Amino acid sequence: MRSFTAEGILLRSYDYGDGHRIISAFTREAGKIKAVARGSRKIKSKFAAYLEPASLNIFSLHSKKESGLYSLTGVRPLATNGNLRSDMRLFGYASLMLESVDIMTAENDPDLTLYSLFTDALNNLSENEISGTVWLFLFRLLKASGYRLEMFNCLNCGKDVSGKAGRFSFPSGGIICAGCAEQPPSLKISGRSLGYVRRLSEKLALPEEAEEEIGNLIGKYIKYELGKDLKSTEFIKIFREKCTFRT
Ligand SMILES: [Zn+2]
Repeated sequence: MRSFTAEGILLRSYDYGDGHRIISAFTREAGKIKAVARGSRKIKSKFAAYLEPASLNIFSLHSKKESGLYSLTGVRPLATNGNLRSDMRLFGYASLMLESVDIMTAENDPDLTLYSLFTDALNNLSENEISGTVWLFLFRLLKASGYRLEMFNCLNCGKDVSGKAGRFSFPSGGIICAGCAEQPPSLKISGRSLGYVRRLSEKLALPEEAEEEIGNLIGKYIKYELGKDLKSTEFIKIFREKCTFRT
């Protein structure tokens, strides 16, 4: 029997059994955890209001074993990050970050560096609403997860590829320049998008075409490596068609 508290971002939650919910959260103390929130769909549940994606909470958890599904025995909200859910464009970006962390991390494997990167990036997106924060975080997440992701120099000849079109090689995890033999399976990427990747920062708003290319590349790379679909890249496309954006 083990009870502890953990600070973390709620990644997602879904219905479970009769009136319960399962939550997935990325925590500072325990990494990604899954927990059952009993009775959380009932109107008077003390948890329901806090179990929203992107919210930062202190979770009280209980487990009979060292790993597996925890029981959620309490939630104390630290930051709701409500604007990330009320604005559809921001919700698309936040969903992409939450889903990526959910896909890329293992349960019960704490990573303080990644936790700081993640909470800082969500704060930044919530406060400044600039898309560069999201893409920068995704590249950092992939690198923190052990992927090579060489986007600046050709993996074959070492030439600087910034500003020039190339191909992203999935088996090698980086760019092959136009002058080198292409190594399938790979995906073409424009010089313009590679230029944005090089200049990525929290202050850089990316144009639509670059976001689509970069989102497509990251989604396909994750699919190649892990066999999982990154559904939120579609969210961004859908929301873009419905909303007016600041770019
Ligand atoms: Zn080359």
